[in-house]
Amino acid sequence: MSEKKRCIGILTSGGDAPGMNAAIRAVTRTAIYNGFSVKGIYRGYKGLIDNDIIDFKTQNVSNIIQMGGTILKTARCKEFTTPEGRKLAYEQMQRHGIDALVAIGGDGTLTGARVFATEFNFPIIGIPGTIDNDLYGTDRTIGYDTALNTIMECVDKIRDTATSHERLFFIEVMGRDAGFLALNGAIAAGAEAAIIPEISTEVDQLEELINNGFRKSKNSSIVLVAESPHTGGAMHLAERVKAEYPKYDVRVSILGHLQRGGSPTAEDRILASRMGEAAISALLDDQRNVMIGIRNNEIVYVPFSKAIKFDKPINRDLLNTLKTLSI
Ligand code: ATP
Repeated sequence: MSEKKRCIGILTSGGDAPGMNAAIRAVTRTAIYNGFSVKGIYRGYKGLIDNDIIDFKTQNVSNIIQMGGTILKTARCKEFTTPEGRKLAYEQMQRHGIDALVAIGGDGTLTGARVFATEFNFPIIGIPGTIDNDLYGTDRTIGYDTALNTIMECVDKIRDTATSHERLFFIEVMGRDAGFLALNGAIAAGAEAAIIPEISTEVDQLEELINNGFRKSKNSSIVLVAESPHTGGAMHLAERVKAEYPKYDVRVSILGHLQRGGSPTAEDRILASRMGEAAISALLDDQRNVMIGIRNNEIVYVPFSKAIKFDKPINRDLLNTLKTLSI
């Protein structure tokens, strides 16, 4: 990082994800370790526009590595999607002497960062923080592992009642555009099937899958459904199955915001710590407009243009794994 870049702003934006605090801590401490000052920007791009900005010292990030959510809060900000809003944000950055920004969030956050960086020729480093794991160029996003573990624990509990009552459960998990949580959650919890946005599943195919399980002496079945317009959601699927196959005792459970909360797993804390440190290393190397990623356990730098533009594919082999193991 060149001599004049001395103050780094940090914000979290979009949906919160467990591990964001560990990333805030790592960015802040690595920046201070390298002699920079840090400004904490509250409520994402909204706080930037509203001047919700404070000095961050090492003690601001003490005792937060184990906390879910984000101490910087998060918000969606429509104003930032307009040139006028972004100009206001730029003026606030200038006023505070911020000369590089680290933005932690999902696809929308990085899209906003890219637009802003291009418009004002401003150095920004992105850190992927989203439970959906749906950003291209990185094997993992911060929060995904914790959410996956939460889903697994919830499904384990639902299994107890599903088995006792011999019921078919549709459990809805997050994943608007990506089935990582549903598919891997289903494998981790030993579910019978996963309905994900990437693959269209007809009700008769589903019946075959479930019947397969029931016939082989299982007395209950669990199907994980990604909450997405492409799948129609768990409620919708359950209604269709109920209408066509009244013999099943069908129930629905929607995990909802539970999936966002909780203390981050060791995996998410370590990922966030590595990514936070890498964000400052990237600025020191004069990199800009890249998202920090991890591939094969190595830190990589992914241009915003790629991270945003491409869809991250699911590993289709996992569908076979799930099918094979659910007989
Ligand atoms: P999650 O994956 O959890 O939903 P996200 O980062 O994708 O997180 P969004 O609400 O989509 O969450 O985006 C966060 C913020 O980024 C928006 O509220 C908006 O301020 C900004 N943003 C999104 N898209 C754009 C855009 N095209 N131009 C400028 N800013 C944008």
